[in-house]
Amino acid sequence: MPPTSLPARVIANLIDGRFTPARGGATISVYDPATGALIATAPDSTASDIDAAVESATNAFPAWRTLPASARALKLRLLADLVERDIDAFALAESSDTGKPIALARTIDIPRAIANLRFFADAILEDGAEAFENAQSSSIIHHRALGVAACISPWNLPLYLFTWKIAPALATGCTVVGKPSEVTPLTAWMLAERTVEAGFPPGVINILHGRGPLAGAALVSHPRVACITFTGGTATGESIARAAAPTFKRTALELGGKNPAIVFADAATPAQLQATVDGVVRAAFTNQGQVCHCASRILVAREAWDAFVPALVERTLRLRVGDPLEPTTDIGALVSGQHLLKVAAAVDGAVRDGGRLLCGGARSDASTLPERVRSGAFYPPTLIEGLPPAARANQEEIFGPVATLIPFESEADAIGIANGTRFGLSATVWTSDETRAARVASVLDCGTVWINSWMVRDLRVPIGGMHASGLGREGGREALRFFAEPVVVVRAKGK
Ligand code: NDP
Repeated sequence: MPPTSLPARVIANLIDGRFTPARGGATISVYDPATGALIATAPDSTASDIDAAVESATNAFPAWRTLPASARALKLRLLADLVERDIDAFALAESSDTGKPIALARTIDIPRAIANLRFFADAILEDGAEAFENAQSSSIIHHRALGVAACISPWNLPLYLFTWKIAPALATGCTVVGKPSEVTPLTAWMLAERTVEAGFPPGVINILHGRGPLAGAALVSHPRVACITFTGGTATGESIARAAAPTFKRTALELGGKNPAIVFADAATPAQLQATVDGVVRAAFTNQGQVCHCASRILVAREAWDAFVPALVERTLRLRVGDPLEPTTDIGALVSGQHLLKVAAAVDGAVRDGGRLLCGGARSDASTLPERVRSGAFYPPTLIEGLPPAARANQEEIFGPVATLIPFESEADAIGIANGTRFGLSATVWTSDETRAARVASVLDCGTVWINSWMVRDLRVPIGGMHASGLGREGGREALRFFAEPVVVVRAKGK
């Protein structure tokens, strides 16, 4: 059967347990970037919608926070079960909203969203007060939920990142006002429906749709919001940090990256070459390169260049660009035509700066695409060589299927280039020398270093960036701590 588009839907805000349009009545049109078809209209929320949601979340907070952790965990687990029950519908919506291959949505995005909900349901049960004792005193640290949490997520991994924020907030006892990206609201709205079905009390979770500079800005500057967890671009992160400052809101910012993949010669020997190439291609181009951890600078040992680069180009050219709803598609559409123009402009700029295209470099020719998606926002995987490390394409995040190739002469040279941007999110190191891997990992300025792998995750470990890649960490206990205030109760001994 040929793939079929999603029918258009009318999305509503979830405020105080009820679905409602924006108070001002305005809506935003949501398009499938693979076809250009209208798939939804969403509320264009304003400050008055945000006020109503924050009031509801504020009212719901005392009861939610004092529920036993096991009762909150039960609700999260029930929500996870409902998403799992409807996993195919969620995967279709996520693919249609973002342009990503449905196979990716079905095997990574939605399962990971389910795992996030279950993980934090379990984590809160294993967490608790901490006790310390010395000769003079015994102290107990209680972790008390902060209040209303603003959870703002981007368009690249919509449900995956939205649940990564709301699950620890709800588990800790915070109530939530969430705002997904206006570009990809579908799965957050579907999740909102499941929260009602799961019986979350009204106000515990509010999900509003709207534009970042309007609804998002009203949310982050709201005086009754206690904390903000945000994933998105670095410039937006900066403006959120400013908005949060006057009321001292706790803020976690997961921002952009310019992540290096460092390929040493011992990873490009005949025995290792294919595995390294496959790994680097995955790191560079998964989700059309629209993952903050994607490798966008591929640093290659000079002596391995002639073996590695042609094999990389050959493997990249074999990626199948096409209809996201076809199960065999590797590369779907970019998230929007507007984003495609930004990616294309960055590549054109790189070529003007002296870069040479090894593959890709222009919008996909419609005649090469299946008929259903001929007007979609498709851009093929693109590799560029010949640019110095300081070139714009090696310094600025492009956030698309574009990676540059940079030769290095020595380990020290590789480390210098890898650390030579304002970002510090993650890196991959490709080598068969364990000692070298550990040595290099210890001096890379970033939050995560993957060795001969990429995006292999244990949800207990913190993830996040340094420098312009953000502030704070998500995951595991770090996430639970973010949403809580430590309150210490001290008893003096012998008193
Ligand atoms: P944006 O920064 O544009 O938006 C992220 C979210 O913030 C969206 O919900 C957006 O709403 C909202 N927003 C925008 N402006 C404001 C504002 N002034 N106040 C409050 N909220 C606002 O990022 P994108 O959605 O374009 O996502 C891509 C970016 O996210 C990339 O730069 C990428 O690197 C980064 N990212 C980082 C990750 C990490 O973990 N470090 C993970 C994933 C992505 P709307 O879309 O409706 O305008």
